[in-house]
Amino acid sequence: MGTSVQLVDVSPRDGLQADPADLSTEAKIELIDRLADAGLTRIEAASFVSPRAVPKMADGEAVMAGLVRREGVEYSALALNLRGAERAIAAGADNLLGVVPASDTFSQRNQGATIDEAIGRWHEIAAVARRAGIPTELTISTACGCPFEGRVPPERVAEIARRVADTEPDEIAVADTIGVGVPNQVQELFGVVAAAAPDVALRGHFHDTRNTALANIVAALDVGVRVFDASLGGVGGCPFAPRATGNVATEDVVYLLHEMGYDTGIDLDALIAASAWLEGRLGHGVPSLVAKAGGFPVPSP
Ligand code: ZN
Repeated sequence: MGTSVQLVDVSPRDGLQADPADLSTEAKIELIDRLADAGLTRIEAASFVSPRAVPKMADGEAVMAGLVRREGVEYSALALNLRGAERAIAAGADNLLGVVPASDTFSQRNQGATIDEAIGRWHEIAAVARRAGIPTELTISTACGCPFEGRVPPERVAEIARRVADTEPDEIAVADTIGVGVPNQVQELFGVVAAAAPDVALRGHFHDTRNTALANIVAALDVGVRVFDASLGGVGGCPFAPRATGNVATEDVVYLLHEMGYDTGIDLDALIAASAWLEGRLGHGVPSLVAKAGGFPVPSP
């Protein structure tokens, strides 16, 4: 048995939110069920942000209510303010995910708040989650770079980690939201975040926009990170560039990890089958390469 690495599949939320297709509530629930069938134990299931801001994620309550809960599977939900956190808790989310961008411009455009305001909102989310006895995870987004401000100084990422550490999140994710990061940068970021929040578990969230996500995952593994986000099929491409790859594909990460000797508890063939199903529902191909090539050795026809 090798070292365990845990994967969080974010396709039902981060992935679908950026995809041009609009899946029905039933299809979202089936996607989540298929991920659990394939062995995923952590799934980003829903979002409780303003339905006006993100109409295609407005069915968070219905998705959470329609799930057939499985023993040992965590269904987490995104919230960006107190109202969202209260909705997510009422809907039965197992974990609350919050986001603080490492760029003021991105933060203003994405969540209508400065970094300071986003940190303030996170403190409210964390407080209400603690009262409800629900674990919390904070993602520092655009940690490797911002589409408007360019490279982000690592000290700013460390400063955010320091300022959220007192809320005692169960996990902090370093997120390369737009897929511009490279391995040495990723190692530096995990180093400064670990120093700023020494008691908090760390997670990597990489987008494959420029084909660097797997390299970044290997770099993060080298500095001891053992939890990563990934998205079935690699869905999550920019809505303005439908063929652009988005989140790193779960099946690509699983292939890499298994061949390197890590355990994930995930069945690669089941994942590839789920990815093919998802392509059918989306009505377009997915960026994953392993979904096309299959595992290795390739089963005989
Ligand atoms: Zn993302």
